[in-house]
Amino acid sequence: METATKENSLETSETLLNSDNYYSNESDWEYQSKTWFTKFINCEAEALAELKGDWEPNGSLTPLLVGNYLHSYFENSKAHQSFLDEHPEELFKYGNPEKGLKSDFIKANKMITALDEDEKFRALYQGNKEVPVEGELFGVKWKGKIDCLDLDRHIFLDLKTVDDIHKKHWSAEQHAYVSFAEVRGYDMQMAIYQELIKQTLGVECTPYIIAVSKQDIPDKAVLSIPDYLMDYRMKEINEKQPRIEAIKNGQEKPKRCEHCDYCRATKQLESITSIDNIEFY
Ligand SMILES: [Zn+2]
Repeated sequence: METATKENSLETSETLLNSDNYYSNESDWEYQSKTWFTKFINCEAEALAELKGDWEPNGSLTPLLVGNYLHSYFENSKAHQSFLDEHPEELFKYGNPEKGLKSDFIKANKMITALDEDEKFRALYQGNKEVPVEGELFGVKWKGKIDCLDLDRHIFLDLKTVDDIHKKHWSAEQHAYVSFAEVRGYDMQMAIYQELIKQTLGVECTPYIIAVSKQDIPDKAVLSIPDYLMDYRMKEINEKQPRIEAIKNGQEKPKRCEHCDYCRATKQLESITSIDNIEFY
């Protein structure tokens, strides 16, 4: 249930982004975001080529669509119906709703049910959905979109789908195993959102991740994010973003990582490498 207070605070917010322009290429040039920051950290050359429209990543869109399917369901029934109407080819067998959903989305329905039938989840996941926020981090404009924001309870929630909540992931940077949340940078995302909410709406909110797994019987968890991790990630942004800005402005040349799809697709053989020096990733 939306209360009048919440609607008022959101209406008077000074956000310039809305659902029509949030994902536009123009706004990706103007604002930094967690998605694009991560792309630039992973490979500057690929990120810049994609931002310029010279390169389209060719990974599977299914995980993204499964996430959107779930998000739109918990946004409201109208949002979910428009999502179904917009993606018949991807969602339904033979692109025909009468033939039933493809297996990935039957699985997504199981994830939805696991959350929807949980009283605690339903009580927790209340507030304004898909709220765009923006602000400035260390002199650079940033944008974000909050899955579920409740200014009355001073909390915001982000829904995440994951293969297995308890799987370990190797972090080369930390030389240690970390959780899915750290390896995917969700601690950074929550730190950014917390700051942007504060700047857009003037309220300090606590972030929670609601994770639901893609296992046959979905697992679920409500996760909090320690402050030290969020502080560390904000420092990382402060350190790394000047270079990204310089690349976007054309002042610095992007470095190639030499192992992503883009780098392999545009590779020119130049030198000979000893097998002693083949790099491991
Ligand atoms: Zn690369």
